[in-house]
Amino acid sequence: EKKNRLERRLDATTSDDHSKWELETYAWSQETRRILTEIFKLEDFRPMQRSVINVVMSKEDCLVIMSTGSGKSLCYQLPAVLSKGITLVVSPLISLIEDQLIQLKKLGIEAATLNQSTAKDEVTRIQNALTNPNSNLRLLYVTPEKLAKSKRIMNKLEKSTELKLLKLIAIDEVHCCSQWGHDFRPDYQFLNILKRQFKGVPILGLTATATANVLDDVKSILGIQGAITLRAGFNRSNLYYEVREKPPTNEAMLEDLTSLINDRFRDQSGIIYCFSRKECEDLTRDLRNRGVKAAFYHAYLESDQRTKVHEKWLFGKVNVIVATVAFGMGIDKPDVRYVIHHSIAKSMENYYQESGRAGRDGKPAFCILYYKIGDVFRQSTMVCSEKTGTANLYSMLSYTIRVNDCRRVCIAEHFDETWDSSWCNKMCDVCEKSQKFEFSEVDISEFFAEIKKIIIQQRTETDQGRITGGKLVELIGKKFKNTSRVYLEQVVANLILQGFLQEDFHFTPYSIISYIVLGARGKNTSGTEKCTMKVQKVKIGSSRTEQVEAPAKKKAKKVIEDDDIIIL
Ligand code: ADP
Ligand code: MG
Ligand code: ZN
Repeated sequence: EKKNRLERRLDATTSDDHSKWELETYAWSQETRRILTEIFKLEDFRPMQRSVINVVMSKEDCLVIMSTGSGKSLCYQLPAVLSKGITLVVSPLISLIEDQLIQLKKLGIEAATLNQSTAKDEVTRIQNALTNPNSNLRLLYVTPEKLAKSKRIMNKLEKSTELKLLKLIAIDEVHCCSQWGHDFRPDYQFLNILKRQFKGVPILGLTATATANVLDDVKSILGIQGAITLRAGFNRSNLYYEVREKPPTNEAMLEDLTSLINDRFRDQSGIIYCFSRKECEDLTRDLRNRGVKAAFYHAYLESDQRTKVHEKWLFGKVNVIVATVAFGMGIDKPDVRYVIHHSIAKSMENYYQESGRAGRDGKPAFCILYYKIGDVFRQSTMVCSEKTGTANLYSMLSYTIRVNDCRRVCIAEHFDETWDSSWCNKMCDVCEKSQKFEFSEVDISEFFAEIKKIIIQQRTETDQGRITGGKLVELIGKKFKNTSRVYLEQVVANLILQGFLQEDFHFTPYSIISYIVLGARGKNTSGTEKCTMKVQKVKIGSSRTEQVEAPAKKKAKKVIEDDDIIIL
């Protein structure tokens, strides 16, 4: 049911819905594929390429941000072949232009450039081609300097526009327009006339690096404020991100997983990432006992065994691979419909990489992470000896527990990208639920005061007071009987992230133990510093509250107490 809803959402045609651009149901889609394989001799699109092509073929202005080497050129070269006519490419350097001309020539695509050293008859030939509907010239490359200086070319291009032969203007390294950018080129400012001069011709700007400042600047200089902005890199628009509260018992967890895999994701391919080799093997056994076609994969498997497991999965004999982080390199199965994290990932980078193995085919896919605080304490003992191990884990923890921020915003922040939550298109649990909830900041000083007491009570002659996280949650549970365990875990997690508490690792010959001690902010004896945490509450008037309020008052109140603060 959920999947259908998402698919419908992908089909939606609202202007800020970027997912629709990935579809392969446009009038030109079949021909696009044919050109990709037969002319460009490429097997498949890289992320974002298909979207950009669909946008420019729809005659929309487009701004595309893709990292270097990710294949920006194809985004205008392919439409140039597809739409016949002429594509004007503005590129900053003659050397870059010449590289592309050599490649295009090999592919049998007719392209040319105009610069100071172009021979006279070649100039004439090109100029004629610009207004000849039967010409095979597809791409004309120029530097902005050349364009600014040559009135003749501008005139010809105008004619070409009138004849509807000029199909697209692509501006490579478009950040050069902006003085905010790192390599501003004054000649790029001249490009501001293109939109007015060549009415109706879509403009495609391409760049690898651009901050929000630069992008806004570029759009206003080029006069393409309405351009569809597509960023590759971190955003995978077809992935639905979700964090779930991890069920308290193994049995309940298995039930959850089994119903996901055998019902919602029936006959589809997926991956479950586990914390350890042992967990992989145990979980695989338990899932198999429940009729799930699962197999495990970890670094201790012999290499032929690994190949076998991988192949079974590729051919659908196995639906789900239960794996450690060892499973990843060289995995390129396009139709992975879900990636489940059985416990928290060790870092945001890991999570992004691992969850990113879902939905490579561009169709909707799900990234589900099961969270409970105990897993953080297990993971932390694994990463605490790495230099930035704990910090990395905490950034993942922050992603997991932030209740009022779009998951994509958290990912973007981590990768230093600018991102507006409205671009998520409700493809994460936070955004999807946002209408039902309101957020507030609550004072948790009272909880911290109790926690501080508990920790200090553990004090011995040699120790300043420490307790395992699990025990701590249990003890505060006794003090705050009406507060759910999940809420208390949330309190502890927030106190750790804010530095009121911290983990302290003890190395024994057999293992590492994580204890909770007072953090730098928590030792503050004056006790005046207030601690807060953000929570979400069901909005008054939303259907859920009405249901809750229907029964007798007393009962209703109790239900709300248990239920009104929903953490995940
Ligand atoms: P950018 O301009 O983004 O730095 P390029 O357009 O120069 O990247 O492309 C980088 C390389 O990627 C080129 O060798 C190109 O042939 C290759 N490439 C582009 N698209 C694809 C694709 N869909 N599949 C495989 N290789 C591709
Ligand atoms: Mg390039
Ligand atoms: Zn979101």
